[in-house]
Amino acid sequence: MGQISDRVNRLAASATFAMLQKSNELSAQGVDVVNMSVGEPDFNTPDYVKKAAIEAVEQNYSKYSPVPGYMWLRKACSDKLKRENNLDYAPTQILVSTGAKQSLCNVIMAVVNPGDEVLLPSPCWVSYPEMVKLAGGVPVVIKAGIEQDFKVTAAQIEAAITPKTKAMMICSPSNPTGSVYTKEELESIAKVLAKYPDVFIVSDEIYEHINFIGGHQSLAQFSELKDRIAVINGVSKAYAMTGWRIGFMAGPDWLVKACNKLQGQYTSGTCSVAQKAAQVAFDGPQDDVEKMRQVFQKRRDLIVSLAKEVPGFEVNNPQGAFYLFPKCDSYFGKRYGDKVIANAEDLAMYLLEVGHVATVGGTAFGSPECIRFSYATSEDKIIEAFRRVKEALAALK
Ligand code: PMP
Ligand code: GLU
Repeated sequence: MGQISDRVNRLAASATFAMLQKSNELSAQGVDVVNMSVGEPDFNTPDYVKKAAIEAVEQNYSKYSPVPGYMWLRKACSDKLKRENNLDYAPTQILVSTGAKQSLCNVIMAVVNPGDEVLLPSPCWVSYPEMVKLAGGVPVVIKAGIEQDFKVTAAQIEAAITPKTKAMMICSPSNPTGSVYTKEELESIAKVLAKYPDVFIVSDEIYEHINFIGGHQSLAQFSELKDRIAVINGVSKAYAMTGWRIGFMAGPDWLVKACNKLQGQYTSGTCSVAQKAAQVAFDGPQDDVEKMRQVFQKRRDLIVSLAKEVPGFEVNNPQGAFYLFPKCDSYFGKRYGDKVIANAEDLAMYLLEVGHVATVGGTAFGSPECIRFSYATSEDKIIEAFRRVKEALAALK
């Protein structure tokens, strides 16, 4: 391993980006791949947002930005939280970063000491356990299977808490399952967490606007948690702005201060032009967000009905985000020629190489019995992907 640090050696590579890269490599060789691996909206950024960025370039937004973000963007985030979530955070309690990914990592680095346990309701996004490991912490997975719609209960959380528990990361709507916690479910979780004041909570709400059951519910609405919760959000998913790299954290003053210190040594303030675009996304008309949400909902209905027709797939009915996470372990042990499909990664690789459909195996999300489809792609492509998946799976013996 040469001179690579133990820290980096211990880290798993991002399974989502690894599959995206493999899919792109095959496409570059001329193979017609349906890419359902990475989770990013296939829409373009709305025109009024792009225009704001062009103006920002012309107005010379070309200097270092303040480390925690321009105050006008922090205010736009604060206004958004009040308007959409009825949450009270002053602009100074917002810290803007290079994507929600950095916001999450900042918080974990700021609160987790080596040896601290971090609860991860699972299936969870691939980067959570790795961020915890980067901080020297110990990921503690709380598993929820498809029979409980991939959602953990308050009782499961309580059973996992030990004197070493430092934090919990929760994501609703969820990547990779699309499950959405109801207000009642969050309330019962908040009641349990209220009994453990030393546990810090990270609430990842990046899929807030891709929700098919009505209004978004934030765990931060429960006042007993207010002093020890970080709300994470951003523009990547709702506004089709993955490449602009703007996310934010809202939290207590001490945490903003700590993340500011960290970010000041690590990346500095994020891209000045992208901040102008994000401000306009938050403050501008929200019609495009709703239009995209409706398209995702139609695609959700389509993919669920197609996946239900696949022999051996078990599916839930995701109520948000743009992922489907079928249980597919009935295929494990089957063969294709002299190759054995031993696990979800083998199945994902088989679907890519033989079916030319890119997905992500479930192990990196904590569910080795599932694979993830991102349906942030057109209906035609979803239909074609499932035709191929069915055909490829039928060839397994
Ligand atoms: N949280 C979850 C659950 C995600 O799926 C993503 C997707 N990239 C992120 C955070 C980070 O989003 P970004 O860094 O693009 O804002
Ligand atoms: N969140 C997306 C996904 O899960 C983007 C890739 C990433 O950041 O991991 O596919």
